[in-house]
Amino acid sequence: MSVNYAAGLSPYADKGVCGLPESFDGPEELKVKVETLASMIKESKFLVVHSGAGISTSAGIPDFRGPKGVWTLEEKGQMPHFDTTFEDARPTFTHMALLGLQKAGYLKYLISQNVDGLHVRSGFPRDLLSELHGNMFIEECEKCGRQHVREKVIGVMGLKPTGRYCDFVRSRGLRACRGKLISTILDWEDALPDRDLNKAEDASRNADLALTLGTSMQIKPSGDLPLLTKRKGGKLVIVNLQPTKHDKHAHLRINGYVDEVMKQLTELLGVDIPKWDGPTVCESSKASVELKTELKTESDSIPDGVKNHQIKSERKRDTAALTEDNSLKEETVPVKRERNQSSVEEGEDL
Ligand SMILES: [Zn+2]
Repeated sequence: MSVNYAAGLSPYADKGVCGLPESFDGPEELKVKVETLASMIKESKFLVVHSGAGISTSAGIPDFRGPKGVWTLEEKGQMPHFDTTFEDARPTFTHMALLGLQKAGYLKYLISQNVDGLHVRSGFPRDLLSELHGNMFIEECEKCGRQHVREKVIGVMGLKPTGRYCDFVRSRGLRACRGKLISTILDWEDALPDRDLNKAEDASRNADLALTLGTSMQIKPSGDLPLLTKRKGGKLVIVNLQPTKHDKHAHLRINGYVDEVMKQLTELLGVDIPKWDGPTVCESSKASVELKTELKTESDSIPDGVKNHQIKSERKRDTAALTEDNSLKEETVPVKRERNQSSVEEGEDL
């Protein structure tokens, strides 16, 4: 299937502010800022990282609102450029550095808006990861909730049935579950996965340091989670080339390539970067021996025109303009907000 996941989403959603100019700290300024970040991480007891599309651009996957982002080009009537497929994409330095930070005990939880599956494929423990917008490689059983990580992209979006059924056997001798499998990829109107969102909210509240990498934080509720940390007395550090929605709330704002920042940071912290030798799935951080899940390939064909799967929840994705006031006065993260510009009541047709 096409690597252009964005093209499979509904057309009407407000895409937020796109194409803002990037800015770069000079080499000296960057060095000083990363040293400050290293000190903050050393002092922190609970670091949570929030990752966005900006950490996967060096893997050849375009972001959304960058100068060459999917939505930025769409506004100009142009098509984005892909240097890879999702299956061929390799985890970037940043993906592996995050795994290194987790193994070294610095990183306690990772929250991602990315659907490219690179965190899971890098071997980052799935019990310490929330993928708020889904994963191209994961389908979930409607009946037992079990997630199946595949070797190839699922090829269906918007939480729709994939045409396959759950083969999970709860205990020997029992029949397989046979529940319907559905895509985990969210469309604009889809609810965020409760399990992942609850864990992400808990981690954000527990954190004393939130580090955001490669996200302009324009999507709600994901983009507002770092504010939960600040509201609880924690600190916020933002690494992004373009302005972000929450720059004014940051204790430290770094304008640099995430890979460069992570390189300097892991050197300062003396963190080893694990080597990547192909897609690995680590189910649990607690396993003494890393569980190398066998990746299965399903060759079943995916039916066209299958009906949408509906999940009842009020937590919807939403974008908001950078100019909107997002003050910390709000008591809670507004997870129940509808989209900003909902001029059309679409009938869920994709
Ligand atoms: Zn099942």
